[in-house]
Formats: sequence, structure tokens, C-alpha cells
Amino acid sequence: MSANQIRYPLLEIDLDKLQENLAALIERCQDSCVEVAGVVKGATALPKVARVFARSGVRFVATSRIDQLRDLRAAGIDAPLMLIRVPMLSEAEDAVALSDASLQSEITVIRAMNAAAKRQGKIHQVLLMIDLGDLREGFWDAEEVVDAALEIENSLKNLHLIGVGVNLSCYGSVKPNSRNMQGLVSLAADVEKAIGRPLEYVSGGASTSMYMVLNGTMPCRMNLLRLGEIVLTGQIYGCSPDFTHKDVFTLKAEVVECRDKPSFPVGELTVDAFGKIASYEDRGIRRRALVALGRVDYGDFADIRPRLPGVEILGASSDHTILDVEDVKDKIKVGDVLEFDVGYPSLVYLTNTKSVEIVYLGGEPR
Ligand SMILES: *Cc1c(COP(=O)(O)O)cnc(C)c1O
Repeated sequence: MSANQIRYPLLEIDLDKLQENLAALIERCQDSCVEVAGVVKGATALPKVARVFARSGVRFVATSRIDQLRDLRAAGIDAPLMLIRVPMLSEAEDAVALSDASLQSEITVIRAMNAAAKRQGKIHQVLLMIDLGDLREGFWDAEEVVDAALEIENSLKNLHLIGVGVNLSCYGSVKPNSRNMQGLVSLAADVEKAIGRPLEYVSGGASTSMYMVLNGTMPCRMNLLRLGEIVLTGQIYGCSPDFTHKDVFTLKAEVVECRDKPSFPVGELTVDAFGKIASYEDRGIRRRALVALGRVDYGDFADIRPRLPGVEILGASSDHTILDVEDVKDKIKVGDVLEFDVGYPSLVYLTNTKSVEIVYLGGEPR
């Protein structure tokens, strides 16, 4: 085997298409005076991907994990970094050392961040997260937010409060709309009144809020979005702009078996490899292809889609994905490589395993 032989499965990342998605989305945001924090956790903060974000003019490169921030710094990404998972108390020191700004929702952690910033001789920027009903992170009580803001402003001298933010459509599947965005804007006004100065940022969420920028319904005080999925995959549930590439990522896997078999399992049925009772439709004898790619690589097979029309995913185990190829049986044989579109949930797995080779297209600065 030669050293530069292609290994499958592989994930191809088109950095030029990614750059074009970023440019197009940032331009739309700029038209509405919205800045972008580019969220790279969906692609495990791969340095080549993060570099495209950093060069595109995002206000921050953002991710959820300390180890990824460390990778970004080690790779020489010099854009301001934002930590978007509220930090553990135990990681306050690292959070200050490795990021310039962070999202916060607990006063105990905020005080620890201030102490760490003091020790490190830094001023760390914070955004207070407000929970408007999605029930993940964030202050619930408006008074508590104002108290935290006042304490930061008046007592925690190594922190600088840059704004307030909200997270929606994550746990509680709550949709961003005029009502909750106005709620955030009015809370921002309360904080501004209490601290006696304007806040730099009101951050109205993630990719699921982008549709409001595109259709002109975002309140104009909202001026920072944290965008990951819509940049990486070009779309998100309910918002698929016609100006984005949907194929930044291409997953390629090799066919290891291809033959006619019954479509209903033969024998006494129990549970599958994951302890689940599965159901099978008897469609008679059909051509099936097996590719060397499985749930360990991508998570859930519902999140990858074969590009060749007529190919259908029947199921998957840890290391195999089973395809019905009856309708295209003349086109597929052992050794062929099949392409798949990749949904956002799969990307974290595919970019996070040494079993999947990553190949980049493009990416030269323009
Ligand atoms: C992941 C995350 C984002 C980005 O979400 P996308 O749906 O990928 O745009 C933004 N903010 C927070 C707090 C996050 O955890």
C-alpha cells in the first residue's frame, strides 16, 4: 500500500464553499447591523475550518469546549475566541487563559472568572445568558440578571460586561420570534439602565434566529448572532437560503459487499446490535450494498443521505451501513465509492474520529 493511497471513509471539506457561505451570511447580517460569532464546534474546531471563519471577518470564533479553544490557539488562530458553553467552575482558569469572551449564567462562576482574570492580569469579556423559555442555560429571574450585571460592573474589575444573550431551539425547541427577541431587548435595556451605560451586544441566538435577519423581522437592537450550523451546512430546519452551498461536506464510503438478499431477516428475531427491537418490511429479494462506515463514524444514519438517487439506507450497525440499491443495481459494485450528504448532527462525529480521513478542497485566501 503506497503512503498516499486514499483511505475510506473520508470526509471532504470544501473550504471555498464554506468561505462563500460565511461571506454571504455575514453580508446579510451586516445589512441589518448584526455581527457574527462563527461557531466551529460542529466541525470539532478543525483548524483549517476555523481559519476560514477567522479570515471571514467574524467578530469572534466561538466554540463550546476548552480543548478546542486550546487547539485553535495552538494552530495560530488569532481571532478573538468566545467560549459558548457556560464554563465549569473547575475550568475558570483555562476559560480565561484560552478565550477572550464567554457566556455566563452563574454568579459563583462569574466571580471565579474574575479572580482568574485578576491572577492572569487580563480583562475578560462576558455575556450574561438569559433563559427565555428554552430551559437550557441562562438566568431565569430578571432581577437576578440585573444584580449580576451590577456586581460585574461595580465589583468585578477584571471582567467587562459586553452584553446579554439568549439560547433558543436547543433543549426546549422554542422558536425565536418577535416576542422573545423583544423580551431580550427589553431586558438589555433594564441592564443598561442599571449600569448606566449601553451594552455592546444583544445576542439573539444561533442559526435558528437567522431567518429573522433574512426576512427583516429582527429587532434592530439585536446585533450579535452565534452562527454554526447554517454556515457549515448552508441551512437549518425551516431556513434554507437560496444563496448558500448545502454541500460543503461530502462523506465518501467504500462498498465492501453487494449481492441479492431477502429483505426480511431469516430466523427467530430478538433485538439488534443496540438492544432495540427493529421492524423490517418484506419486499422480497433485493440488491443490497454494504459500505464500510457505521454508527461509530456518524452517529445516526438518519443524518446522512446518499447522493445517488435510488439508494436508500436500510440500517446500520457500529461499522457497517446497509443500503438498498435495487433501483440502481447496474451502477454499483464492490470497491465503488458512494457519496453522502452530511447533516449537522453527524458532523461532530465525523470530524472527531481518527477512523475518518479528512480531505480539504480549496481554502487559499482570496
Ligand atoms: C452551539 C451553540 C451555538 C451555535 O448553534 P448553531 O445552531 O450551530 O448555529 C450558539 N450558541 C450557543 C450557546 C451554542 O451552544
